[in-house]
Amino acid sequence: MSDSPSLDAFADSKLAEMDRAHLRRRLVITDPLGATEVEREGKRLLNFSSNDYLGLNRHPVLERAAMDAIEQFGVGSGASRLVTGNHPLFRELETRLATLKGTEDAVVFGSGFLTNSGVIPALMGASDAIFLDELSHACIYYGSRLSDAATHVFRHNDLEHLKELLEAHRGACTHAMIVTDGVFSMDGDLAPVGALVDLAQQFDAWLMTDDAHGIGVVGGGHGSSFENGKRHGVALQMGTLSKAIGGYGGYLCASQTVIDLIRTRCRTFIYSTGLPPASVAAAIAALDLIENDPEFAARPVTLAKRFTRALNLPNAESPIVPVILGDTDATLTAGKLLEDEGFLVVPIRPPTVPDGTARLRITFSANHEERDVDRLAELIRERVLNGDQS
Ligand SMILES: *Cc1c(COP(=O)(O)O)cnc(C)c1O
Repeated sequence: MSDSPSLDAFADSKLAEMDRAHLRRRLVITDPLGATEVEREGKRLLNFSSNDYLGLNRHPVLERAAMDAIEQFGVGSGASRLVTGNHPLFRELETRLATLKGTEDAVVFGSGFLTNSGVIPALMGASDAIFLDELSHACIYYGSRLSDAATHVFRHNDLEHLKELLEAHRGACTHAMIVTDGVFSMDGDLAPVGALVDLAQQFDAWLMTDDAHGIGVVGGGHGSSFENGKRHGVALQMGTLSKAIGGYGGYLCASQTVIDLIRTRCRTFIYSTGLPPASVAAAIAALDLIENDPEFAARPVTLAKRFTRALNLPNAESPIVPVILGDTDATLTAGKLLEDEGFLVVPIRPPTVPDGTARLRITFSANHEERDVDRLAELIRERVLNGDQS
């Protein structure tokens, strides 16, 4: 018996709509067996879809640090950090993040999603304007919507279009913010960070980059605001501890005064429980590994470049390589074919990516073997791109 027939009817009709459009999503239990292998539905697969670019999820040093933290501080933090949840590990992680990013301070959040959906509305209000790259992550759009600021979307990495929008709208707003992914999550390309810093200065706009896929793996491990060892002056660098850093959590790096304001004004920081000690300890251990071994940090991008060379694709700039097939059904079929060959490459389709750009999104890990990368490239060349999916 249903507690609310009209609610269930609503859910049923929505699901049926998504089924018709082939957009229904399903969870599949995925058991991590090792650094790059998973078991799904009874099959062992090599994982080329994880964002754990450095294989740190199963790294013994991180596991040890997390277990030690549990023994010392327990499994949770018990309250918001402003109440009693601010265990001693936070200070160390925030100092380390600020050092890595070349900023005065940093603040750690529950997740990257909570960071974007909290920081943007904490800084921007109804008389302000936000300028977004069209391919920005969903939680950047979400945070912008929560802020009540006017939102102007510029074409992907199109500085001319951004400039036009700034010229048209900057005069009418109190504050302006430019937000973009530093490394684009579904395309793997980088934002033109240096040029964005210049535009931001020219129009007195605050630049925020989302480095979820940059920290640990591009810019010598420092992320997408660093180029050839030089730091670009990005005022707000956010990111996640959930991808290359291997665990969970989010962060913002900025000046002391901005971080102080966020700690006292940002709702997703104030009204949410602090990260568990184990997650914070694991992140500190991850930063040790990344800082001490730049070659290790560079390996995922090196493997991605090997793959793009083999397929004559544009040279990879990050550990993410899209093979855009366009059609959703063809992409699902390609994913199935690769799975039959032992590779997990999860098809990505609208609305996660724009209509008509369904794709295989392939991600590389420091722990992948070159021969497996080569085998995957060959399969995609012979069986997917040549249309022979028999
Ligand atoms: C994954 C991701 C986030 C969210 O980070 P979580 O820590 O997973 O919540 C934010 N921005 C981008 C670009 C991402 O890819």
